Amino acid sequence: MTELDRARQVLADVFGYDAFRPGQESVIAAILAGRDVMAVMPTGAGKSLCYQIPALVLPGITLVVSPLISLMQDQVGALLQNGVRAAYINSSLTERQITLALHNAARGVYRIVYVAPERLMTPNFLAFAKSAPIDQVVVDEAHCVSQWGQDFRPGYLRIEPFIRELPRRPRVSAFTATATESVRQDIIRLLRLRDPFCAATGFDRPNLFFEVRRGGDRNAQLLSFLQEHRGQSGIVYCGTRKGVEEITRMLVSKGIDAVGYHAGMDDETRQQAQEDFVSDRVPVIVATNAFGMGIDKSNVSFVVHYNMPKDLESYYQEAGRAGRDGEDAVCCLLYQPADVRLNNFLIEHSMEASELDEQTQAVVLDRARERLKQMTFYATTTGCLRTKILRYFGETPRKARCGNCSACMSAMGERDVTRQAGQIVSCVIALKGRYGKGTVVSVLLGKRDERTREKELDKLSAFGCLKDEGESNVRTMIEELVADEALEVTDGDYPRVKAGPRAMELLRGDEPVHMTLGEPGSAAPRERRVQQKLPVDKALFSRLAALRRDIAEEQHVPPFIIFTNATLRDMTQKCPGTREEMLRVAGVGTGKYDRYGRAFLDEIERYQMEQEAGHARKKR
Ligand code: ADP
Ligand code: ZN
Repeated sequence: MTELDRARQVLADVFGYDAFRPGQESVIAAILAGRDVMAVMPTGAGKSLCYQIPALVLPGITLVVSPLISLMQDQVGALLQNGVRAAYINSSLTERQITLALHNAARGVYRIVYVAPERLMTPNFLAFAKSAPIDQVVVDEAHCVSQWGQDFRPGYLRIEPFIRELPRRPRVSAFTATATESVRQDIIRLLRLRDPFCAATGFDRPNLFFEVRRGGDRNAQLLSFLQEHRGQSGIVYCGTRKGVEEITRMLVSKGIDAVGYHAGMDDETRQQAQEDFVSDRVPVIVATNAFGMGIDKSNVSFVVHYNMPKDLESYYQEAGRAGRDGEDAVCCLLYQPADVRLNNFLIEHSMEASELDEQTQAVVLDRARERLKQMTFYATTTGCLRTKILRYFGETPRKARCGNCSACMSAMGERDVTRQAGQIVSCVIALKGRYGKGTVVSVLLGKRDERTREKELDKLSAFGCLKDEGESNVRTMIEELVADEALEVTDGDYPRVKAGPRAMELLRGDEPVHMTLGEPGSAAPRERRVQQKLPVDKALFSRLAALRRDIAEEQHVPPFIIFTNATLRDMTQKCPGTREEMLRVAGVGTGKYDRYGRAFLDEIERYQMEQEAGHARKKR
């Protein structure tokens, strides 16, 4: 059996899944082949399995460097449930516990050891690492190593020297969900990855609908949003602790079932809030950004940002907690200019207790300001929101308009614009590629302003040829033509529009050109796309969820660690009656089956018998 075959077997036996998700297999193959890896995958893509499966196939130990205690606890908890021996070493343990854990680790008790970056270079950890057979070092949330990123964590700079201390260099794999090109390069450079296999599964999350609501009364907007989404579960992110408390009170007073969550609450109340939300007892949680990391609740149908976050990395990470089950979900940002001022203030004061030297501080501040500018641009643009996000993360979207965000929806419909596209390209050629987008738009719309008059552009035959379209459509068409390479925009301080490599092809008009645009001159809103959902037996689902909650409470772990909602949903669809059938449910491996399989099979059987008894009664 090849190593990759064994990886597939582990996927099925231990984790209970029958197929890899996009990107997982190639990353696993590279790790097994001994290569370093740099993987950029969006939240929910399934990064953990990418290193946990190799960890179980390789003979030695895998170390996972992770930034957050709660994240480590959840990961280790989930592994133990699957029957994998794992442990974590961080400041939540006493020195005695750490000594004991390291002693066990040295005896080979654990396959996977999670560790906080600050621990790596401590004498006892180093002594263990030098004598143990370490096959893989995983850097989770690897963007923390970069000063370009929003989560720079000085401890991450110790990872590379730590690896150098090891007698035999293990393969090193780095994972992150948020990496712009500069962050990616920093990760490779600062961790000194060797000819890494680079994987990027793409940042797009097609099932997320992006929306910005601007101005107006935020509370009123939030309320109307929540009314539109009644019965669904979601997160409302808020910039401050005080805000969390006020909004929670406001929502509850309006009859919306919501709990608050922030780091200033006492542990017990906070834990309770999280549990109520994760276990679906309360549908809405109002939280600061302290909430979310390491929380694997898959049926989050919306994420509302009551305040604008400081950058698109944070925004996309938080918003991305919606729709991890692959079902349609909405990410809505409520924007007001005051958000920019608050964020600016926070940035300017962020270095007050910093240990960084002055020069580094200046660089970090500069980058933070630039990121805020991009975030603000997202909140205020009339262009496609998805396109804006994808470009920010260094991707080239296939289309300039996605058709599934509020900007696109405010005016949409696919039209044949072969004639208009030809006119735009001809106009750009007539202008000899000397002018920027604004002037090209003015000419096409026939605007007699200073510039067109001064340069006598109003004498061109193209002048005013698209005056019926309206400015936003003309701008979109130009963007689409740039994306299609019929036009090009030059670099530099004065970007100019010129003909692109595919201009002639387009002018020949052999192929019709279709674009998603508003009605000429108007902006007719359209219902957004609704996706087909598989039917779920809700009554059975809630019975299984209740059983899961009981087990979770008994074991003092969060319910999703027992089974995720996706697993429960699959169970209600497959209605397994035997061990074999239960093992076919996504997310049920042999470890989980041994622990809980029987209980869930029994519950399903009881439910079915009650149903039949009910039917029989009705017939009589
Ligand atoms: P990430 O760390 O990339 O945000 P996770 O590793 O937490 O994502 O995985 C998200 C969810 O997807 C988890 O519930 C995980 O069990 C599930 N998952 C991962 N890989 C697969 C797969 N191949 N098939 C089905 N579900 C998977
Ligand atoms: Zn869009």
